[in-house]
Amino acid sequence: MYLLKIERKGMILEGYLAVLEQVLGKPENFVALHAPCFEGNEWAYVKQCIDSTWVSSVGEYVGQFEAKLVEYTDIPYAVAVVNGTAALHIALRLVNVMPQDEVLLPALSFVATANAIAYCGATAHFVEAQSSNLGIDFEKLSEYLEKNTFIQGETCFNKKTKRAIKALIPVHIFGHPVNMSALQGLCKQYHLALVEDAAEALGAFVHGKHVGFYSDVACFSFNGNKIITTGGGGAILTSNADLAARAKHITTTAKRTHAHEFYHDELGYNYRLPNLNAALGCAQLERLGFFLKCKAALARVYKEAFASLPGVRTLEAQEDTQSNYWLNALILEKPNRVFIEQLIEKAAQRKFQLRGLWTPLDSLPMYQHCPKMDLSETYQLFNRVVTLPSSAWLGNKYVEGY
Ligand SMILES: *Cc1c(COP(=O)(O)O)cnc(C)c1O
Repeated sequence: MYLLKIERKGMILEGYLAVLEQVLGKPENFVALHAPCFEGNEWAYVKQCIDSTWVSSVGEYVGQFEAKLVEYTDIPYAVAVVNGTAALHIALRLVNVMPQDEVLLPALSFVATANAIAYCGATAHFVEAQSSNLGIDFEKLSEYLEKNTFIQGETCFNKKTKRAIKALIPVHIFGHPVNMSALQGLCKQYHLALVEDAAEALGAFVHGKHVGFYSDVACFSFNGNKIITTGGGGAILTSNADLAARAKHITTTAKRTHAHEFYHDELGYNYRLPNLNAALGCAQLERLGFFLKCKAALARVYKEAFASLPGVRTLEAQEDTQSNYWLNALILEKPNRVFIEQLIEKAAQRKFQLRGLWTPLDSLPMYQHCPKMDLSETYQLFNRVVTLPSSAWLGNKYVEGY
């Protein structure tokens, strides 16, 4: 009986590995979860920086990169910064998150979302996820806010802690946009600033607009594993001219513009993106359309291929949204941590890198004492989701035939 069980599990695992080989081929070299692709003007632009000696915080590529982000997203202002985490930190400063405040965020996110809140001296307040797109569960959140908060003047307070809740940070996990118009309505009702963690979602759209359009401030990341990369980098996008100007000011040490004087009029940060990184970003942005095509093709092929297996499906874009399919993911019908771990291990033996979800943030040592909703769905999802190799070039061979 016991042996039979092991054998069956082995066969199921084998089925998953067979589908991976069907989609990606039998690899000679290790297939990473996500690797960057430099086949455009990357080398030329970076070389130009070095030749000109403008490699650091001043140079023409920074402005160009910002202008291109504005043009592509149709969001009026962009400020490039050193990474996505810095973008989140500054975004929260822009909407006046102070020590003693609370900020709502999903427990299902990369740790940077919570860290940015802690950098402001504020407290993370964790909210529940939903299985359709791994984003915030709007229904449960709105019920929770109704029961657990009160409004005094123009401020929302946590009934239990009596602290002000200042902002909500939705996250577009793996590039699948959440329903922003619903969350925007909720934020208006509760006087919350809306700060979008769009770190994974460049090239994704919701209600016909690029992600970031519906929030006060949106944050993007161009880390080496994201859809485009600047090596390390990030950006703050906003429709608000004053916030954009302030973002630029405090990310450049809050230095007053002057020919030779050093005068800093408040506490600032050295968060500006170096020209060298911006040069890489300019070249990568030229390739974004191609990356998106490859990723959409790869997602379609994964979806069809895994449809042959019972008890599992791929994550897909929701209604009225367009995903960038940054990272493909499988979702098991039933939670099964042991199976996920075995699958990751066996896939690695066949040279495929798979990964599980982030450990829910509320269980990390520095966030264990933070306020939170019931997170049972988040914990189920942690035991249901596994991500698949998703580099753009893996989808290249599938672009033509579709
Ligand atoms: C990558 C990422 C960040 C942070 O970006 P960095 O550029 O690595 O600092 C924040 N949130 C999410 C959801 C991310 O995936």
